[in-house]
Amino acid sequence: MSNDSENNLAAYALKSTESFGRQFPEDISNNRTEFQRDRERIIHSTAFRRLEYKTQVFVNHEGDMYRTRLTHTIEVAQIARAAARALKINEDLTEAISLAHDLGHTPFGHAGQDILNFCMKDFGGFEHNIQSLRIIDKLENKYASFPGLNLCFETREGLLKKCSLSRAKKLGDIGKRFIEKKQSSLEAQLTNVCDEIAYNNHDIQDGIRAKKIFIEQLEDVPIFYQQMKLVLNKYPSISGSKIVNETVRLIINLLVNDLINNTKSNIKNESITNFTEVRDHDRPLVYFSEEVKKSNMVLKRFLYANLYKHPDVIKMTEEANRIIKNLFSAYNNDINLLPKDFYTYNLEKINSGFKERVICDYIAGMTDRFAQQEHKKLFK
Ligand code: MG
Repeated sequence: MSNDSENNLAAYALKSTESFGRQFPEDISNNRTEFQRDRERIIHSTAFRRLEYKTQVFVNHEGDMYRTRLTHTIEVAQIARAAARALKINEDLTEAISLAHDLGHTPFGHAGQDILNFCMKDFGGFEHNIQSLRIIDKLENKYASFPGLNLCFETREGLLKKCSLSRAKKLGDIGKRFIEKKQSSLEAQLTNVCDEIAYNNHDIQDGIRAKKIFIEQLEDVPIFYQQMKLVLNKYPSISGSKIVNETVRLIINLLVNDLINNTKSNIKNESITNFTEVRDHDRPLVYFSEEVKKSNMVLKRFLYANLYKHPDVIKMTEEANRIIKNLFSAYNNDINLLPKDFYTYNLEKINSGFKERVICDYIAGMTDRFAQQEHKKLFK
């Protein structure tokens, strides 16, 4: 349907009426746009609910105050929607891509992905973007007339941030843009950058709360130090976590405003007037100004060196490696260890040479605590 909410979009926004459609044709809704329906299907999916118990940086049981994949996802959607509105691009599509962008993550964050990829090295590997697509296209099992969530082409394509050429060839329509060297929609490009804005900033907050990094160290990171100075000038008697929260708030505002303004001028300077020109452009159009890009990079490097490579976080990586490796080989040695209904649902795949992929899907879908419990049960 043509919805009032899409009437005021810019000419270069992606309207749901221009969508390439769904894999399995469906009747059009009377009161929702197609991208709204996508967003709502994602929220009702099993994979979305599981994000609550999956690690972002800290393992789920380390504390109730830290971000999980779910709260991270909601923060990405919030930042991306606000920016989409300012750019007059499609908020519904932006939100749908944001809410689905991390569905394919394994338990234990990036550590889980790396070890699962290692376990699958002879069987096609594992990559969380591809897994997100697999979940929405195939693994969600709840609708009578199609597998997966049957989402629109643009939502599906928006999830694929990167893709090797060989993999792109196997993906059909969705992989085409990597072969033809075309860009994704502005909505997908925006979600990508907002993902980064969200995690850099919430990782500062969580890292400090967990005492893995300290304000004194962050004084060497110019973007943090400059915004903190503004906070301290405005509120001289402020202390504790309020300093961090106010500083992070200013950093997010600075990054988002820069992103909006720079993207607007990119669109203007490159004379982009419609969606096809966005796709055909030789590079993405949504990115920071040169100056902010540099200061954001310093922050990223700081977090990498001091938080993601912190000995306690590395320890968690080793634990994740052990649990996932052990689970993979246990199911591989005895496929009957899989739950009966999951085994039965996948019997055809198991019998036609895709046993490892079925095991990989099962492990990737686990929450942190389920993986730990399952490991305890199998390796007493
Ligand atoms: Mg993310």
